[in-house]
Amino acid sequence: MYERRRPGAVLFDRDGTLIRDVPYNGDPDRVELMPGAAEALARLRRADVPVAVVTNQSGVAKGLISPDDMDQVNARVEELLGPFDAWAICVHDDVDGCTCRKPAPGLVIRAAAVLDVSPRDCVVVGDIGRDMEAARAAGARGILVPTEVTRPEEVEQAPEVAADLTDVADRVLNDLEAATPVGAGARWSRAMGWSRW
Ligand SMILES: [Mg+2]
Ligand SMILES: [Zn+2]
Repeated sequence: MYERRRPGAVLFDRDGTLIRDVPYNGDPDRVELMPGAAEALARLRRADVPVAVVTNQSGVAKGLISPDDMDQVNARVEELLGPFDAWAICVHDDVDGCTCRKPAPGLVIRAAAVLDVSPRDCVVVGDIGRDMEAARAAGARGILVPTEVTRPEEVEQAPEVAADLTDVADRVLNDLEAATPVGAGARWSRAMGWSRW
């Protein structure tokens, strides 16, 4: 059902998807890109597809990293991968019962709202079941890129599985070739406070 639709945006999980998962990392020097990340983002930007990050950072709620540590790590991610059009970050933990921590759909909905696109037109890329559940709950297309820590049942249950971020870009941009570009009215309609969708 998603084929041949131009994605409104591609929303990436951070840890284990764009960069190697170093649990509760607050050190920008430990940021290391996942294979294909830089090239996949460059291809999406060239195709005018907005890119964003949707990330759970419960280390902040747990007091294991400070908001400033997190900001520094995120700044390093942008240094390596270029600027993202939006960041949606959950700094809560499971016990907080927030609406943003994946598998809840809040981060996907928030990023889509910032980008003024429908969550249904977004692609969510992640490495675990929580990412795919958040995508499903928001009505977005989910693509799982498994790593060595992804559980077999998460792979089995994923709506779509890609080998790596190069494969993700291939899938998203192949859809784009036959799709219709977004209308030129986007900028002023946003300035008028309208939503395009
Ligand atoms: Mg992850
Ligand atoms: Zn939250």
